[in-house]
Amino acid sequence: MIRYLHKEEMRYRMSIACHDTLADSDDLVAQDRCVSSNEPGDVRRTLLAESTIDFAAITVAVRTILKAVGEDPDRDGLLETPRRVAKMYAEMFSGLQQDPGRHLEVTFEESYDEIVLVRDIPFTSMCEHHLLPFRGVAHVAYIPNGRVTGLSKLARVVEEVSRRPQVQERMTQTIADLIEDRLCSRAVGVIIKAEHSCMSIRGVRKTGSLTVTSTMRGAFRSDPASRAELMSLINMPN
Ligand SMILES: [Zn+2]
Repeated sequence: MIRYLHKEEMRYRMSIACHDTLADSDDLVAQDRCVSSNEPGDVRRTLLAESTIDFAAITVAVRTILKAVGEDPDRDGLLETPRRVAKMYAEMFSGLQQDPGRHLEVTFEESYDEIVLVRDIPFTSMCEHHLLPFRGVAHVAYIPNGRVTGLSKLARVVEEVSRRPQVQERMTQTIADLIEDRLCSRAVGVIIKAEHSCMSIRGVRKTGSLTVTSTMRGAFRSDPASRAELMSLINMPN
């Protein structure tokens, strides 16, 4: 999906879903999806628009920050730093240019109607308040409604959603939304545990404290027995 155009100009362009046009078509896709959910995302793909991450602007900004904190951005050790940071941000925020839901477009008919859980999916994301990383694991579960997705696809969704500036609460909901929307499953549960650098290396400086967020949909929300079963699977020793 990523196309490198002019590397020497330190910028690249990617395709993203165009929000304006997608708003209307999303309704169509959503209606259609639960009926014939094995359709590839042609509609979504035809609505792809272009966006850019401006490497040059990030580079200039990092030089400005270095000067502002009293450093000399032209000293030997810092000369390449703005370029490295720009490259790092492009990687850390690559999810902004992607539609993680595309991984869930292909589903398979399956009569299995119990919990599917992929747990301990490691991720690193970026806190949008401080632009510092938060890292941890995500547990992603659903109860199929006649169709299943590939297990690795759930991990891919976590990976791409994590590559954005955000708060953990929204990340949890975003993953649940995507699965609920694309798989039309009977239940969706997403639990994320993470340590936030903005709490451990600055501010209150509490290393080791974990933040846990949870989003439950469908049967996991309405049926205590289903939710209890999910929690026991998540907490089951390896
Ligand atoms: Zn923070």
